[in-house]
Amino acid sequence: MNDPFPFNAPGLAIEGAVGLNAVQGWLDSQRAGLLDFCYRLIETPSPNPPGDERAVMAVICEELSRLKLTGHEIIASDPCRPNLLLWLRGKQAGPLLLYNAHVDTKPVGDQRDRWETDPLRATVKEGRIYGLGAADMKGAVAAFVYALAALKENTTLQGTVCLALTADEEAGSRFGAGYLVSRGKIKADMALIGEPSGIEREWEFLHLGHRGSSCFKVKVHGTQGHSSISNLIPTVNASLKMAEVMLAMRSDFHLRVTPHAFCQAGITLNIGVHARGGVFYGVTPGYAEFGCDIRVLPGVSRQGLERDLHAFLEQLRQNDPSLDVRLEFEEGPLGWTEPTEVNPDLPIVRALQSASQVVLGHVPPFSLYPATTDSAHFQTKAGIPTVPSFGPGMISLAHGPNEWVGIESTVQAAKIYALAAYDVLN
Ligand SMILES: [Zn+2]
Repeated sequence: MNDPFPFNAPGLAIEGAVGLNAVQGWLDSQRAGLLDFCYRLIETPSPNPPGDERAVMAVICEELSRLKLTGHEIIASDPCRPNLLLWLRGKQAGPLLLYNAHVDTKPVGDQRDRWETDPLRATVKEGRIYGLGAADMKGAVAAFVYALAALKENTTLQGTVCLALTADEEAGSRFGAGYLVSRGKIKADMALIGEPSGIEREWEFLHLGHRGSSCFKVKVHGTQGHSSISNLIPTVNASLKMAEVMLAMRSDFHLRVTPHAFCQAGITLNIGVHARGGVFYGVTPGYAEFGCDIRVLPGVSRQGLERDLHAFLEQLRQNDPSLDVRLEFEEGPLGWTEPTEVNPDLPIVRALQSASQVVLGHVPPFSLYPATTDSAHFQTKAGIPTVPSFGPGMISLAHGPNEWVGIESTVQAAKIYALAAYDVLN
């Protein structure tokens, strides 16, 4: 079935094509082991919060030794939050390629009763693996490990692949990618994160960047007093003012931004992701506040966002002198995470396209990932150009009930990761 020389990467020798066929053949022969590893990862819960990756990391270490992938290092700022680094070094010098997946998941959450299977069991149905973390992103963890094993068994490389399996992504990566980068443990010429890249179907997009995000509060002050006389003396109801600001923001707030060629989603503003106001019956509300979450495109800066928000609120104040409204950004990455983007000519991008053509039979179009990823650490802080999401599964299934990853796409991911690394490192 396989074309003997299917891999048309420019400059690839016939010898290389034979090696690549061997990689694909080896992964086909190891399919049962790869899927079984994925099931065990799912059945070893790593919900965050509370955050404890020890058990799932033990499953990974066991598999590494079974596959004779030796020489990994565990790095942890807290013993409960291990990160694993594994290097596959070629015989000759060459580029350093970083592969990354996080091993934690969100908790099952409030909708366990909506799951049609046990979220903590890997259940296979209709070509899909159901279970918490299947798409986000234990399928990709299994695929990366098997990709490295396939490269070790079947190829020689010119350069190095570093696989970083990290903790704490679901809660901001303070113990994970953030810690590794702050300690100078992550060095690479380019990186790929295997976050689930589909939105409506698997392998839908190749994401060249991620949207940035910003969370802020809008605070409204009014007049607290006895509610029985609110129509007799001048009174400003802070809850009502807050509602007016929310509605005005929905219709009249427009961030100045140039449209992005790859990002159909544009900017997403969620107004009132939380809201509160007032004290109790009998009291006119003296204070109310609501939170907003905005997702921004490359080209938007924090200063630009602040400037536009302040200008919008100033306009509201001018229209309504009784309005006392202020803006407060959250601290740290919650307040601002930079959008990212890589050049489509980056070798790993070209290699993922070629590998997709071979394995999937098509090349997914470029896009920007709607959510933020650990490329906030790898690219923004460590300066490593990072493809933030190309992996099996769909982000639309993550963090909710009935999450699944395709069996076929998990195997395809291992092949794509192996072929792309081989392409970059030859
Ligand atoms: Zn994820």
